[in-house]
Amino acid sequence: MEMEKIKCPGCGHEINMEIHEFVDVETDPEYKERIMNGSLFLVRCPECGEETLAEYPVMYMDPSKKLTVYMAPGHDDSLLTQLNSLEMPEAEVDTEAVLRVVESGEELLEKILIFDGGRDDRVLELYKAIIVENIRDEWPQIRREDILYFLDEDEDYFIIWNFENLAGEQMTVNIDDELYDQLKEDYLPALSLPAGKYAEVNQAWLDERINVEP
Ligand SMILES: [Zn+2]
Repeated sequence: MEMEKIKCPGCGHEINMEIHEFVDVETDPEYKERIMNGSLFLVRCPECGEETLAEYPVMYMDPSKKLTVYMAPGHDDSLLTQLNSLEMPEAEVDTEAVLRVVESGEELLEKILIFDGGRDDRVLELYKAIIVENIRDEWPQIRREDILYFLDEDEDYFIIWNFENLAGEQMTVNIDDELYDQLKEDYLPALSLPAGKYAEVNQAWLDERINVEP
């Protein structure tokens, strides 16, 4: 385990923070718990008690789901090229492995939930874009980045952040399984990814492949 010093924004005290560069949640399930409840990247200042969000690069691995997500806050454009520069012999490439790059703890959490829920993140990015198109007339201010996948027990849906319905509750959108399956069938070939390579599947990634706007 590594330690890093960060400066408390409250009092300026130098806090020693534990850094976990590689997290295997099959062998250490508590790390998944800590990502889910947001505590992995939260440090409390021993001097003044203030809590600070300190995100750093983490390789998240869940071998049981063949899922690897590299969380790299503020990474530069060359990261994917670097990660994908290693050419592996074809026989060693696991075609079922999912390799992703994300920018933040929030995005990492969403990926974890998506694959826990048995969904495909590429199809869900497309689904989000369709939601925005469908509600554009009624809710022109809702953007795709406001829509996040959520999994609660075995039920999954989208949460629209910062928007409330008429009853003053957090706005959610149910996932229509028929539509999801249809999108998967119709568009997954256009959204295919090379085996054994990392991809940053987000809105920009989708926009490079499919033009959703009419
Ligand atoms: Zn402090």
